[in-house]
Amino acid sequence: MRRALIALLVLPLLAMATPAHAADEPLAGKVIVLDPGHQLGNSNPKFRKQIAQTRFNGSIVKNCNTTGTATNAGLPEATFTWKVAKRLKPLLEAQGATVLLTRTSNTRNSYGPCVWDRAGFANAHKADAMISIHADGAPASAHGFFAIAPTRIKGWTTDTYKVDRRLSKAMLTGMESAGGVPSNYIANHLQIRGDQSTINFNKVPTTIIEVGNMRNAKDAARMSSASGQQQYAQWLAAGIERFFAR
Ligand SMILES: [Zn+2]
Repeated sequence: MRRALIALLVLPLLAMATPAHAADEPLAGKVIVLDPGHQLGNSNPKFRKQIAQTRFNGSIVKNCNTTGTATNAGLPEATFTWKVAKRLKPLLEAQGATVLLTRTSNTRNSYGPCVWDRAGFANAHKADAMISIHADGAPASAHGFFAIAPTRIKGWTTDTYKVDRRLSKAMLTGMESAGGVPSNYIANHLQIRGDQSTINFNKVPTTIIEVGNMRNAKDAARMSSASGQQQYAQWLAAGIERFFAR
């Protein structure tokens, strides 16, 4: 009788003291860097010099950053990627992840950071993954998301190109399983490219996700609404979960 009573009292306490387990927080212990592409000030003439800085990225010489694209109605890619990253952050934190952003503002009074510094940020934090969020500016009939992963470049991506491709594919699978719409213009929704500084400078698993085409009416409508931005965040979260699922 007494033993039963003790069990009755103690078992609920034990349950309360047990840390949330993997099923509740599948991203516990993971450091995830979100990289909202571009910055509003990249198009500000006062930063022209800074944006024009160049570095060799393993295959070509490229600028610090670019202005990015926009919807026909004028929503800048920088603002869109910023909003999606801000919505994605709490979704990942709710699953136990530590989430860091490569930029802390979306303003015309700032530029960059340069793509090599975005990569450097993820490297410095020893991130478990870096997701670079972009949107495309393709012909109007093109729509949907795709990923970009690196070619093998000796001394640059030798150690990362395989995991980058695995991350890219996991993102595609996870995003599609969450209801995301994959691209209708990129074969297998995956580009293998050697010219992407964000990826080449990175030493941690990295992918660039072009979440949709800003010049497509349907994608642009989704990108321009709060509910649509939340959808993009949910798709990306599902992709990240897929990568870390064991
Ligand atoms: Zn972009």
